[in-house]
Amino acid sequence: MSTKYIIVTGGVTSSLGKGIICASLGKLLEARGLSVTIQKLDPYINVDPGTMNPYEHGEVFVTDDGAETDLDLGHYERFLGITTSQENNVTTGRIYYDVITKERQGAYLGKTVQVIPHITDEIKSRVLSLGESGKYDVVIVEVGGTVGDIEGLPYIEAMRQLRFDIGKKNTLSIHLTLVPYLKAAGELKTKPTQHSVKTIYEIGLQPDILVCRAEVPLESGIRTKIAQFCNVEVEDVIASIDAESIYEVPLLMLDEGLDKRVIEKLSLKCKDEPVLDKWNSFVKAVKYPRKKIKVGLIGKYVEHHDAYISIVESLIHAGAMNDTKVEISWIQSDEITPENVDKKLAGLNAVLVAPGFGHRGIQGKITSVKFARENKIPFLGICLGMQCSVIEFARNVCGMAGANSTEFDPETPFPVIDIMEDQKENLETGGTMRLGLYDCAIKKGTKARKAYGEDLIHERHRHRFELNNKYREELEKGGLVMSGVNPERDLVEIVEIKDHPWFVGVQFHPELKSKVIAPQPLFVDFVKAAVELVGEKSQKL
Ligand code: GLN
Repeated sequence: MSTKYIIVTGGVTSSLGKGIICASLGKLLEARGLSVTIQKLDPYINVDPGTMNPYEHGEVFVTDDGAETDLDLGHYERFLGITTSQENNVTTGRIYYDVITKERQGAYLGKTVQVIPHITDEIKSRVLSLGESGKYDVVIVEVGGTVGDIEGLPYIEAMRQLRFDIGKKNTLSIHLTLVPYLKAAGELKTKPTQHSVKTIYEIGLQPDILVCRAEVPLESGIRTKIAQFCNVEVEDVIASIDAESIYEVPLLMLDEGLDKRVIEKLSLKCKDEPVLDKWNSFVKAVKYPRKKIKVGLIGKYVEHHDAYISIVESLIHAGAMNDTKVEISWIQSDEITPENVDKKLAGLNAVLVAPGFGHRGIQGKITSVKFARENKIPFLGICLGMQCSVIEFARNVCGMAGANSTEFDPETPFPVIDIMEDQKENLETGGTMRLGLYDCAIKKGTKARKAYGEDLIHERHRHRFELNNKYREELEKGGLVMSGVNPERDLVEIVEIKDHPWFVGVQFHPELKSKVIAPQPLFVDFVKAAVELVGEKSQKL
């Protein structure tokens, strides 16, 4: 069976949840035994989202191969249990960068380089290369942005051409649109959908299936109207109504028959029904937990929850494993002071200090670490959160007054977190970030070893600074356990404290590998520790 391509576009407004629809459809196809991957095409000019402010773009999702990508790739991995790579995220910046590089090298043999055909060819080759790997039955292509956006035009044109190049029977076009409910009129309105479909027709791509986001169910009259005015069959009007949890969306799409229509139209050979037993029990565990804990998420972008989306989802996965609802208390780190920390962190069953870059909020994070350490509250520090835990330990347990990371204080008398010597040579070229998957050997008898149940693990990184090996001995003497180390470069990856119910700091980002079918072990154990401590007091729901 040759690879089939499903092109997903969006109309009317952004934030309709295109990524979740793609991930849900992917899940349903995967559950029927097909091998599926999803690619995101982003119309912005940044080469990747690595340099974008989290307030603008949310989390940067890092893949095994060290690509800094769009957060939708996180949904794809979590839903489908797959591993994505650089290839799964294409940006306009990357496309132009490569086309201009080729032009400089003379690859276009003196031709005038233009959007059509050179940019569109480059886009198509990126899309087709996933299928050409021979690994996938289906490639879902999510076109970022909203139909009608100027910057999205080359992508839509490339998709139009792709349908012609490889044939309609090998491609399918799904358009996600909004059907708003007008309270005053007491009815759903189809006009925005009609306009959106008209717009996409004008640029040459005809939708085969319409997924209609709505707050209330679409009754049959509305479906018929949409079908009639948008040139699709009634069965191809799929309603996507608001769900309590994103993990319910695949089940809602199954009820609506989205996967069935896709399979029929693309003549896909697969199981008659999707196998979703595990998924169903997971959704049940998410919706009806018997216990509840409250985790404080201390970060500097807390107003924008998308900046921490993989952490939030990892906590949901870990909560389901523990039959527990994990309520997140979002706490702005730069508002925490030694004077108010007990009030700000009151009532928490666990504390998570988030990753981040730059000076703002550091003191608040360090103060929160101290509070969790002294009050024996389960603590998980991720990347910058781990670095803060080392700084706090150095200052308050090992007596290194003024200990710091050279990221925040280049003159610190105790640079317990620093750029490593071998990285310093690369400072000028900017290639100093440790990105992607690295090995970590775990010491026996530690909390990390117990959580993972393995001696050698592999986790994803995104940081510049490291625990300074010069201070390792002194910190260990004070009682900080270096429970995980990267064997190749002898870099500390995990620290923990023995005399504490659960205190673990990790230099890597465990949240990037948590999946519905495989919740991340540290998160599972972190939640478990909090649940156990709540013990008798655990609030029955
Ligand atoms: N700013 C820190 C560093 O670069 C931590 C980065 C992070 O938390 N991802 O090392």
